[in-house]
Amino acid sequence: MDSASAERKLGEFLPKFCLGSLIAVLLAFLFGGFSSGSDGSAPLLLHNFSRQFFTLYIILVPIIFISYLLYIDFLSRQEGKRTATGNRKLIYDDAFDLPSQDMHGYKIAFITGQVPTLTGLTGDLYVADDTARCESNREHIPPVVGCDCGFYAYSDIRDAKHQLSINPTSFLINVDLYGIGFAYSRGFRAESQVVNSMSLPRRCMRCKIFPPIRFVKSHKFGFNSFAYWRWEFRCQMCSSIFKEEDRLSQDEMSNVLGIMMVK
Ligand SMILES: [Zn+2]
Ligand SMILES: [Zn+2]
Repeated sequence: MDSASAERKLGEFLPKFCLGSLIAVLLAFLFGGFSSGSDGSAPLLLHNFSRQFFTLYIILVPIIFISYLLYIDFLSRQEGKRTATGNRKLIYDDAFDLPSQDMHGYKIAFITGQVPTLTGLTGDLYVADDTARCESNREHIPPVVGCDCGFYAYSDIRDAKHQLSINPTSFLINVDLYGIGFAYSRGFRAESQVVNSMSLPRRCMRCKIFPPIRFVKSHKFGFNSFAYWRWEFRCQMCSSIFKEEDRLSQDEMSNVLGIMMVK
């Protein structure tokens, strides 16, 4: 299962779960599970059962819920690492026998945070012109052979578009990579990255019906920072309930990110 479908499953399950919980509480209440039992109005057995059931419920449900969020986070990190490298083998023998080609490519990014920030699939934040940092070893100057650090990009736009279609709230960006870089069968991993442009979707990211007109900041749940802000490009209708400070026009977003936007 990929992280996108795991997230979708959670979304489908939540309303059923709320309804189920409500029915359980109602049933327990109707059959006297909450009454004291001392006045003989409810059988002691039922009273004990509902008390035990709800105690377990309060302990287990958050644990299951948090474990599932952790699982989604794990899946999305794995996907992020697998992305551009395709198979992990370099297409040449010696890592320092570097390819002499332009490292131009495509990838997807989310826009997250109170102040809009580009965010990779693995959760790392970067600006339009940035140098990679290694999360697992501070001594590394990315990219390092055998580590996952560095900026990734697909060389074929079709690979990035496929990834875009399974991550519908992300944006397609066009990048150039510089510095030390490794070439893989499907892309590159390199030291620094300049984002040239961002392609905007033709449909609203929420209703998928109308043409989008502006960016809005909505609250999401995820493990990385438990609850976080994610910017989506939405139509008039799907963005009208947002307050003025939670909206940005296309030009404003382009200025904040320092990236040209193309439709
Ligand atoms: Zn590293
Ligand atoms: Zn819409």
